[in-house]
Amino acid sequence: RMRWALIGASTIARQYMVGAIRAQHGEISHVLSASAERARAFADEHRIPRSGNDLKELLSDLHIDAVYISTTNEKHLQQALAAVKAGKHVLCEKPLALTLDDASAMVRAAREAGLVFATNHHLRCSGSHRAVRGLIASGRIGRVLSLRLHHAVFLPPHLQGWRINSPDAGGGVIPDITVHDADVARFLLGEDPISVVAQMTSSGLGEGVEDSAMSVWTMPSGAMVMSHESFTHPFAGSGLEVHGTEGSIFARDVMTQNPIGSIELVTSSGREVIGFDQHDLYGESIRRFHAAVAGEGEPAATGLDGVKSLAVALAVREAAVRGVRIDVKYGD
Ligand code: NDP
Repeated sequence: RMRWALIGASTIARQYMVGAIRAQHGEISHVLSASAERARAFADEHRIPRSGNDLKELLSDLHIDAVYISTTNEKHLQQALAAVKAGKHVLCEKPLALTLDDASAMVRAAREAGLVFATNHHLRCSGSHRAVRGLIASGRIGRVLSLRLHHAVFLPPHLQGWRINSPDAGGGVIPDITVHDADVARFLLGEDPISVVAQMTSSGLGEGVEDSAMSVWTMPSGAMVMSHESFTHPFAGSGLEVHGTEGSIFARDVMTQNPIGSIELVTSSGREVIGFDQHDLYGESIRRFHAAVAGEGEPAATGLDGVKSLAVALAVREAAVRGVRIDVKYGD
């Protein structure tokens, strides 16, 4: 039975991760917040035995095996490094950090310490994305020509805080959603973007950060990826399309936290509805994490996956700021 500590009394922990950890037979023994009061309230709400605001004290507990970090993005680095130093496995939220050097440093520290480090990219845990990947890999659509990612959503009022007004906390739609889309493209196509062009804007919510972005990525195979992220689109719906020489895949409402949506394959034989497994995405992330700690395989999204998704997002922002094509730098 894995013993977890939550670093961050966050919405994502409250809405998804507490339930996901417990569903996978993990035990949550601590919750940490910058405010002892908020930590206590969170602990009471979720029946977590211990709470506090002292990271050092929390990490000194030898019974804790792993930490789940879901604080605002500027805090991940220092918290992850401290957890690794204390010998804890780490599941960290995306974006791993604000810079590529910081993200790489976290992942390197865990590797050198022989600890599992995972990134909570939930979409590659979903049955729908796995089904799309399976269709591509089995050759059903022939050679992939293009991937279109539709991820323009509406940020609910209770999340309209640091994401739309705090560059220091890693706000903006690019660190928030483009990182997920980068991971989706890498997962579906099995290759890493080489270069990007992009534009971004603020269309009603962003104050000092972008709330919308569109970009086009070049892949090593020659496939083109088109990616659209926003916080301001209430009715756009989400989805992805993969177009190949022998067929097209239309996956609707699949850029989501829940196991919903639909997939249709169109080929010369006609239209086919594709079924997929509807397990909980975050539960699957935890299941794979627990297995990795037990020495069985890798987490669903590794630390390196988190570094690479951040690299793509940073390139998208740089391309949008400078108005030129940017080569993606993945670091070493
Ligand atoms: P929240 O804004 O809900 O929480 C982030 C931090 O804000 C908390 O850790 C908390 O700090 C602080 N906070 C919460 N409530 C208050 C308050 N009333 N006053 C002051 N501070 C408060 O963020 P999210 O849960 O939306 O996101 C957290 C992280 O998870 C981010 O890195 C985000 O990118 C990621 N995320 C990932 C998702 C995924 O699907 N993989 C989905 C959603 C988010 P403290 O801990 O100090 O109490």
